[in-house]
Amino acid sequence: MPRFHCPLPLHADAQLDLPAGAARHVQVLRLQPGAVIELFGGAGGQWQAEILEMGRSHVSVRVLQHQAVERELHRPVHLIAGITANERMDWLVEKATELGAASLTPLLAERSVLKLKGERADKKREHWQAVAVAACEQCGRNRVPLVHPALTLAQWLQAHPVEQDAPGTQRAVLSLAPGCQPLAQVLAKEAGPVVLLSGPEGGLSPAEEALALQAGFAPVTLGPRILRAETAPLAALALLGAL
Ligand code: SAH
Repeated sequence: MPRFHCPLPLHADAQLDLPAGAARHVQVLRLQPGAVIELFGGAGGQWQAEILEMGRSHVSVRVLQHQAVERELHRPVHLIAGITANERMDWLVEKATELGAASLTPLLAERSVLKLKGERADKKREHWQAVAVAACEQCGRNRVPLVHPALTLAQWLQAHPVEQDAPGTQRAVLSLAPGCQPLAQVLAKEAGPVVLLSGPEGGLSPAEEALALQAGFAPVTLGPRILRAETAPLAALALLGAL
């Protein structure tokens, strides 16, 4: 059944016009009045809805019953990922959403090739948020991961002192340093949220890695191969999904 993100107040029997993006999509699919679609607001659960009318630029629907369907990971995973160049970052946002990341903070790493500032940074954030929404429409997630504004590691750490972490939280940094323990082993120890830090193409700088360790990030390995900046956090999410 076609699914659309519809961030409007939804309740049974409500009649409403779909937001512009969803309406366009319904028109492209040439759906007809009477067709049933699925709507989700982004903060949990989904609704069936029947198309009532297709106008030139609007599509009106009647909301049917609510379904309390959840497709989240057992442990929420908050990803802080080094910004990678060009469309690799879009790919990372899409796949991280499919694999269940609860939120994503693009990291302005010392070695990030893409330097984002001001209006361009806002535009990129909006773009990545839209990529996450489209991935939720596709994969059936009813909670849209929040894409936060891009931050340096120092800025993120300042805003998130370790003593304010929710109980049972584990912080881990994907590290290439020798002698790290495997991610699955380290992260099997608690049941709360996971904050996962990974580097850009050029890796985290020694200063960033030291800062992370000081702030309670346990260094973990994904094995002896050097994975690309977008592969590493996705492999970690897949492993965490299986815990
Ligand atoms: N050019 C860098 C590699 C960066 S890989 C170098 O040779 O040092 C990009 C990021 O992916 C790394 O910063 C790390 O966070 C993560 N990563 C890649 N492979 C990994 C592995 N086997 N274990 C843990 N983290 C890994």
